[in-house]
Amino acid sequence: MEFALIGDTGIKATRVCIGTWAIGGWMWGGSDESESIAAIQAGLKKGLNIVDTAPVYGFGLSEEIVGKAIAAAGRENVYISTKAGIQWRNGSTFRNASSGRIIQELSDSLRRLKTNYVDIYHVHWPDPLVPVEETAGAMNSLLEQGKIRAIGVSNFNVEQMERFRKEAPLHTCQPPYNIFERGIEKDVLPYCKKNGIAVLAYGALCRGLLSGKMRPDAVFVGDDLRNKDPKFQQPLFGRYLKAVDELAQLARTRYQKSVLELAVRWVLDQGADVALWGVRNPRQLELVEGTMGWSLDENAKKAIDDIIQRNIPSPEGPEFMAPSSRTPEEAKVY
Ligand code: NAP
Repeated sequence: MEFALIGDTGIKATRVCIGTWAIGGWMWGGSDESESIAAIQAGLKKGLNIVDTAPVYGFGLSEEIVGKAIAAAGRENVYISTKAGIQWRNGSTFRNASSGRIIQELSDSLRRLKTNYVDIYHVHWPDPLVPVEETAGAMNSLLEQGKIRAIGVSNFNVEQMERFRKEAPLHTCQPPYNIFERGIEKDVLPYCKKNGIAVLAYGALCRGLLSGKMRPDAVFVGDDLRNKDPKFQQPLFGRYLKAVDELAQLARTRYQKSVLELAVRWVLDQGADVALWGVRNPRQLELVEGTMGWSLDENAKKAIDDIIQRNIPSPEGPEFMAPSSRTPEEAKVY
């Protein structure tokens, strides 16, 4: 297993983190509790020691399942990464990173997770209606009270991180990053590297596209976000699948690996400290060991770039997932 140190917090996390968005069911066509618990426990049994969740994942359900799943392992043996800053009401969500909301969300999360502290606490999305300084101040007060051990932000740009760091220490950043979604390479990734902010990259498998199991006739049930993800719509889906086929061949011939192992390894070798790998059943983490203990060489990285450029000259980003902001009128009420 490989580990990443999270700043000066003493947290030594495995470089693969168990992601639990799908486990909440919402935006993933539902979930099964016993399979979800088994998935998290399978990951812990394989030696992973960090689980990422959020209040909004299933409107509390993901955090509750994480709380149940880690109980047997012992709270002190698992790092919990969770978040604050997305509110929900009648099934719709909107950003709210006000000081009051952050503090309320932490106490709700602690109850659902059955714990009295969170290891890494992220601001889930920047809120254009709340000054970054207010959000940072709330996070800092939770750190000073010992209720959280590390502060993170997610989906923040460099300017927002700069402002945040004037008010509070920043230990982690959680951006989207995978072979197909590389927006952070321009400035977020170099900024984090330069400033000692650990990068916990989400969507390492591009929502399963890089798992190797996707076929052109894939069907996604209910509210599964892949029904709206531009990459999963034809004819673009076909082009992405062709790229995945070529990546799979590269992984097989050069490294005797699967495309899934290649995709996770790529994220780690590009400079992410930790790759978040979303799961919903215990079989999905079977290849964890195969992502550790090797590296892609420069030739392979160039060949990967070439596959992407040939097949997907105009890549689609993950922007379709961004939650809405409140209107100024709504902000007066919620
Ligand atoms: P992901 O890791 O790229 O993909 C997860 C999906 O891939 C799974 O739900 C599963 O989908 C499929 N999968 C996983 N392992 C597989 C395997 N071995 N074989 C076949 N398919 C497999 O996407 P993600 O879950 O969106 O991102 C990872 C984690 O990052 C999340 O769970 C969450 O903790 C975090 N995240 C954070 C943010 C943020 O804004 N901070 C945003 C997104 C995600 P199916 O079984 O449904 O096909």
